[in-house]
Amino acid sequence: MPKPITDLIHHPYKPPANFAAPQPGVYKASTVFFADVAAMRARDWKTKAGYTYGLHGTPTTFTLEERLATLEGGTECLLAPSGLAAIALVAFAFLKTGDEVLLPDNAYGPNKALCNGELANFGITHRLYDPMNPADLAAKLSERTRLVWLEAAGSVTMEFPDLPALVAACRARGVLTALDNTWGAGLAFAPFDFNGSGQGVDISIQALTKYPSGGGDVLMGSVITRDERLHRALKLSHMRIGFGSAVGDVEALLRSLPSIALRYEAHDRSARELALWLADRAEIAQVLHPALEGSPGHANWLRLCGATDLAAGLFSVVFDARYSAAQVDRFCDGLKLFRLGYSWGGPISLVVPYDIGLMRDPGVSHWPHKGTLVRFSIGLEDAEDLRADLEQALAAL
Ligand SMILES: *Cc1c(COP(=O)(O)O)cnc(C)c1O
Repeated sequence: MPKPITDLIHHPYKPPANFAAPQPGVYKASTVFFADVAAMRARDWKTKAGYTYGLHGTPTTFTLEERLATLEGGTECLLAPSGLAAIALVAFAFLKTGDEVLLPDNAYGPNKALCNGELANFGITHRLYDPMNPADLAAKLSERTRLVWLEAAGSVTMEFPDLPALVAACRARGVLTALDNTWGAGLAFAPFDFNGSGQGVDISIQALTKYPSGGGDVLMGSVITRDERLHRALKLSHMRIGFGSAVGDVEALLRSLPSIALRYEAHDRSARELALWLADRAEIAQVLHPALEGSPGHANWLRLCGATDLAAGLFSVVFDARYSAAQVDRFCDGLKLFRLGYSWGGPISLVVPYDIGLMRDPGVSHWPHKGTLVRFSIGLEDAEDLRADLEQALAAL
């Protein structure tokens, strides 16, 4: 007879099978058991046919991956520990010494930092292109270009590019395209099938940290493809780097994912209301929101997202040049409901002032504004209350 301490660990009790409830079961594992040595040797960690080690997938991570792939219209998905890790995974999987990667001038800043840091150290070069000029991208594609990053809308300055034209330029040269689809979230447009054309990007990454989580409390990323060969390369790098995802975070995402469309629409509705209101204010020189007429790339947004009529709850404003950066800082400090903080997609509205002069390369794309830019992420508060908060902070200017 085993001692109680052993029975405590190898307990004979098995709960009845076929438990069913709204949320899928949560499986935690580093170690995964095999029935026998033959099963251990036969198991292939590269597919979802079975389990080998927690790092390579559990029923819980597989379930989230499958749901995310469906949301974006892809067939394969890998989880990464953050949105930025998802970006890095694409670089690890497809770039080698001597290759060049192209980024839009308004790319997510940390992607540029990765290019300037680790990728440069590995002998991989990068160049910036003007996202609003497909001819500029086409002219910069060379024998060495291996990967082109795309973003719609662009980070912070929110220009909406002609995504199908940018992708077509890459496809004509056989260059891999990767979209940072955090803004669209798989809801505003179909990244692998623009307007039902069958044309789209090769790879879509998302910061699940934003709308898929919706809580402001989880860091995770996804890398989705429709191509088994690309997925294989990504999976190999994923395994060799050792990108795991904490099961509590995977559970949180499975819990919030069913409400993503409702939340996205609510964020969108309030954001447009507030963006329109700000556009009429004398303090504001320009509102940058792709769904608003007069915003850069509005026609591109209309063509790609007109069918869904959706946009993220995110926009920026440029203050009139008569306001100093210090005054705009005080405006941000004066907001009571809007909190100062990075990231977006959570329930609480956020504000960040940016110095665009430090973020853009004047040799690549022209930034026409003189005033200070402030980005708002609209949360789930009542839009009237948010408007009143903006109004009192503007009045204090
Ligand atoms: C937030 C964000 C990321 C990175 O996500 P993290 O989970 O914070 O690493 C990448 N791209 C865009 C556009 C983002 O907004």
